[in-house]
Amino acid sequence: MSKELIIAIDGPAASGKGTLAKELAEYFQYIYVDTGSMYRAVTYKTIQSGIDVNDEEKIMEMLAHTTITITPEHTTLLDQVDVSEAIRENQVSENVSYVAVHPRVREKLVDLQRDIASQGGSVLDGRDIGTVVLPNADVKIYLTASVEARAMRRQLDNESRGITSTFEQVRDNLALRDKIDSTREVAPLKQADDAILLDSTTLTIPQTYAAAIEIIEQARKNKKLSE
Ligand code: C5P
Repeated sequence: MSKELIIAIDGPAASGKGTLAKELAEYFQYIYVDTGSMYRAVTYKTIQSGIDVNDEEKIMEMLAHTTITITPEHTTLLDQVDVSEAIRENQVSENVSYVAVHPRVREKLVDLQRDIASQGGSVLDGRDIGTVVLPNADVKIYLTASVEARAMRRQLDNESRGITSTFEQVRDNLALRDKIDSTREVAPLKQADDAILLDSTTLTIPQTYAAAIEIIEQARKNKKLSE
């Protein structure tokens, strides 16, 4: 068994999972997989191909000749083209939760995610990592924050990427996505029974990071003790 850890970070939209996961991956020299970017890439291609986001059959046909790769530099390649920026656009954010409800789409992406994570030494962030993708992960963190705090952070992030949006638009999109993500039948967003809740509403990024490191170091000690 690998001595390296598998770390699962789940939580609602824009809760800072990506920022935290990336920093942790860098600190531990682990692989980082942003699973949301995979659902976003599928959504982007669905829209570009003129396919209805509710048409699972057509999306699956499209996926039969689609490749999605997450590079070690954290860029998302769709059919070998870098779509890292394009998948953050409003149109993708507004449609991704409709694509992510499809069980067969999820099955395909989950296989890909498990494949990447199986060697250990990996950090994955998403909605169903601790519950469905990697139920045996060594560390499970459920990262959340109030919808206002999350919307404020996402709005600033959008500004820095040159994406035009208002605070209200961002907040409403996050709230709607959370609702769809947490009420879908397959792999809904929820805290795993054995996940540790980390609420970052009043925490800075360094404080959130420090809290996560503490959780992980404890898990590392426990893993050593049980070996
Ligand atoms: O993480 P991010 O906000 O980029 O994810 C975009 C969307 O992808 C989520 O709102 C959700 O609908 C879907 N998703 C999912 N399962 C995951 C990761 C993301 O359903 N593991």
